[in-house]
Amino acid sequence: MVESDAHKKYEFKRTLEVLRSKRGRGTELISLYIPHDKQIHEVAAQLREEFGQASNIKSRVTRQNVTGAIESLLSRLKLIPKAPENGVVIFCGAVDIGANKTDMETYIIEPPDPLVSYKYHCDSSFLLTPLEDMLHEKKTYGLLVLDRREATVGVLRGKHIEVMAHLTSNVPGKQRKGGQSSHRFQQLRLIAINEFYTRIADAASEVFLGIDQKDFEGVFIGGPSPTKEEFESGEFLHHEIQKKILGLFDVAYTDESGLNELFDKLGEALQNVEVVQEKKIAERFLKELVNDTGLASYGEEQVRKNLQMGSVDTLLLSDQLRKVRLTIKCSNCDFEEKKTITKKLGDEEYQPGNCKKCGSSLKVAESVDIVEELSAIADQMGTNTSFISSDFEEGNQLLTAFGGIAAILRFKTGI
Ligand code: ZN
Repeated sequence: MVESDAHKKYEFKRTLEVLRSKRGRGTELISLYIPHDKQIHEVAAQLREEFGQASNIKSRVTRQNVTGAIESLLSRLKLIPKAPENGVVIFCGAVDIGANKTDMETYIIEPPDPLVSYKYHCDSSFLLTPLEDMLHEKKTYGLLVLDRREATVGVLRGKHIEVMAHLTSNVPGKQRKGGQSSHRFQQLRLIAINEFYTRIADAASEVFLGIDQKDFEGVFIGGPSPTKEEFESGEFLHHEIQKKILGLFDVAYTDESGLNELFDKLGEALQNVEVVQEKKIAERFLKELVNDTGLASYGEEQVRKNLQMGSVDTLLLSDQLRKVRLTIKCSNCDFEEKKTITKKLGDEEYQPGNCKKCGSSLKVAESVDIVEELSAIADQMGTNTSFISSDFEEGNQLLTAFGGIAAILRFKTGI
């Protein structure tokens, strides 16, 4: 099964969420970052040194927890002869589980991008910033600044802007020459503006469609008002790019310095990009639903049917969805059924009861996270999967009113 990038990212984010919630009583949670090139025996030597120093810790409980964690790390390291290609991160420590109790927990993570530096970190929480940064760094944005005379197209990667295209127009100024009728002049001017917008859009669309789409987050447009608004509402860009407009900003320049000016203004907008995109997708779904276009589908069964038909353009999954899909089989006859249940916290096992056909006991043959099950079908069918957070109104609505599973369809299916 090929895992989609959106899915991997979702899993990674969820793992970080779990780690972020862990707390030690004292400074006793250890984060160990080992890049690919780091020799494991050197890491072990340093850990033994830390073990020696930990014997000086005054609090008996903290001392025991730290030395316990280091011992656990050392035994894990024996199983890793060499760090994998992107390195490996091991989190270990006595985690506070309430009721005056702690539990020694260990997490081993292979990061999505290569680790740059070795780190041994001991604190009351796990060190996550190097992993959190990986979620943001790879993002690529399209930048476009324009007015009626000039336009510049750029690509923003991390903090680096690359200029990709520069265009100028021959749109006449507002003053007409003598002898020309005012009406005719205005008409010609509008045609020229329209032509220029089309040229800008063609150049920008070509550049932005050429970016690896899995890293491409969207487009920011800068320029004076009302030019940029006019350009946006005229939908000149390729429809795939038009969908990805993230925001409009007032910018005075429309040459290369305009791209820098636009970048300076993005600030918070860049931080909120994910939420903005999720909001757009959720809004699109709600719009299709309200307008009764037949292109909105929701509910687990309906969406699964549509997915299997290949009719889903975008699959919307709430990132709060906690359900598993069970395959239940009879221990005696050939009876088999599938069932979705809410994932329980803790170790509570699902009891499937007895067979309807022969009365023998049923057993759970397979248990798959529903997010994995549905996004696997989506991947096979070339469907985009979007994980929608419930931090904003439409996202919360997706979870509470639609069970966290919805779809925007490519064509009507009546399901
Ligand atoms: Zn049976």
